[in-house]
Amino acid sequence: MTESLPLSDLPPLADVHCHLGENLARELHLAKGGSVRAVVLTAARAEEFGEIASFCAADTRPRLIPAFGVHPWYALSAPENIEALLDRMFDAVSGGALLGEIGLDFARPKEEHTAQRALFRRQLAYAARRKAAAVIHSVRSAEEVIAEVKKPRPRPVFLLHSPRASADQVRRLAELGGYFSFSAHALAPPRKRMRAAAAAVPDDRLLIESDWPSGGDSPADIADALIPLAELRGIPAGELARRVWENSRRFFAAAGVS
Ligand SMILES: [Zn+2]
Repeated sequence: MTESLPLSDLPPLADVHCHLGENLARELHLAKGGSVRAVVLTAARAEEFGEIASFCAADTRPRLIPAFGVHPWYALSAPENIEALLDRMFDAVSGGALLGEIGLDFARPKEEHTAQRALFRRQLAYAARRKAAAVIHSVRSAEEVIAEVKKPRPRPVFLLHSPRASADQVRRLAELGGYFSFSAHALAPPRKRMRAAAAAVPDDRLLIESDWPSGGDSPADIADALIPLAELRGIPAGELARRVWENSRRFFAAAGVS
């Protein structure tokens, strides 16, 4: 069980990983009065791009930042013309967008892996070309993700969300410029590996996410992610909140979103 932190006592926060879901509007409304300033609304399938763009175009608080991309789970049904589709979305939004959710998930059936690899490479190359930050999902694939993010020139800014990686892999990804985001539910004990990964993230690369609607956290209670992180890193939650907000601002600036 995590105790909730009163949002009013906290510095601004950003939820860097949230998806569309049935009650998203209600959750965002709940987040509105608190200190949540920005939420990254992340696509998993191309079919969601339009809805995400319209959500983000509405004048809302917190600020909604779109992420367009095709998740590895949908690699087999990804549109042929993904780059053209991404171009259309990136050109249409004001204030910038992220590229995601992309990645490699080798817990999925082996028949999907070849399509996943091809799609990940194409979208990473797109991120580099567009100077967009990549939001990466990685399961049983950390070594291959490390190898792939090294390839594109210029190397895109990237963020590993709920990274399934060892402490050593986290350090190597950080050396490549990576940011890392964690939710309260992904850090609930035992989750030994995820907790070790969170402890290994350099101070200036740590971000928080709800990963709503999976797992039970929401943008409205994003502050809950600070509790296990503060505990793991041995610093007060308020101080951690300030660092994480600084990191969010730096990440968004590097990603070209305003
Ligand atoms: Zn996700």
